Amino acid sequence: MEKTICNLCGGETFINVYKDIIDEVSNESFDIIECTQCHLLITTPTPSEKAIKNYYPNTYYHYTGKEKYLSTKIAHFIKEYQVSPPRKLLKRILSWILTKLLGRYVAIIIKGQGDNRRILDVGCGDGRRVSWLIQYGYDVYGNEINLDACRIAEANGIKVFNGTLEEANYPAEFFDIIVFSQVFEHLHDPQRTLQECYKILKRNGILIIDVPNIESLNHRIYSKYWFPLEVPRHLYHFSKETLEKYLERNNFKAIHWRYRYPKFYCSASIKRIYKFGSFFLLIKSLFGSLIILLFYFYPFIRSRDILFSPTIGVYAEKK
Ligand SMILES: [Zn+2]
Repeated sequence: MEKTICNLCGGETFINVYKDIIDEVSNESFDIIECTQCHLLITTPTPSEKAIKNYYPNTYYHYTGKEKYLSTKIAHFIKEYQVSPPRKLLKRILSWILTKLLGRYVAIIIKGQGDNRRILDVGCGDGRRVSWLIQYGYDVYGNEINLDACRIAEANGIKVFNGTLEEANYPAEFFDIIVFSQVFEHLHDPQRTLQECYKILKRNGILIIDVPNIESLNHRIYSKYWFPLEVPRHLYHFSKETLEKYLERNNFKAIHWRYRYPKFYCSASIKRIYKFGSFFLLIKSLFGSLIILLFYFYPFIRSRDILFSPTIGVYAEKK
């Protein structure tokens, strides 16, 4: 077996965090280890870049071309209506709702609109996450390894490349914004990808990364059954600390951190415990879910405390 070297710090010593996490797609088991130097969590054994395609079913939720969640449905409806609202005040209200639904970065993108601005969505799926920005004057690019998703993205007006970011070989200082939304944890070599981002981003260009938050209460309650561990499709598992180290090492400066609360992680995690865990764990996790639910209705903590957000997002500038 190939020796594991930490992608973030080059460390070679690890401790075991979880053993035998079952992947429901392949029915194979994977472990998660932690680098003793930088605390990056790594899925092991790591399927090769060629083999990983076998672990993505064509029905993978990012490729359906349809929206499952009400909040995303509302957001898409507003985005399309947003472009030509009859009144200025209405436009401002709609922007505010969009920001609440999709995060502050959306406001930043809308504010920075203008001609000839290029945005790249890495792992763009069906392209709907960014296609609406075309109407805001953006030149919208995406890359995606799944061919079916590429075809939908193309139909949605994205200049899409079928393959990895590195394979796309974009020119230097080409993009104003690069987005990784729930994609960064799927990369084989985040270090290499960030170097590529540094090359293809313009000076003061913006990098937006959104990943599951390993420090969250959500993860602590469901532990190895936590849905966003999603082995082996998620190759790395990040905390604010490890994500920040990645940015610093690649000459990016974190400007703003954001936290969100996608509820579906709870039900999906409980389902996994019901299927693979013990009765005791099920009771424990249901009790834990109640605590999460309580805090869900307490907005001050929900939106601000890193502990209560199952995802962690960062908005960083190229130095
Ligand atoms: Zn390390």
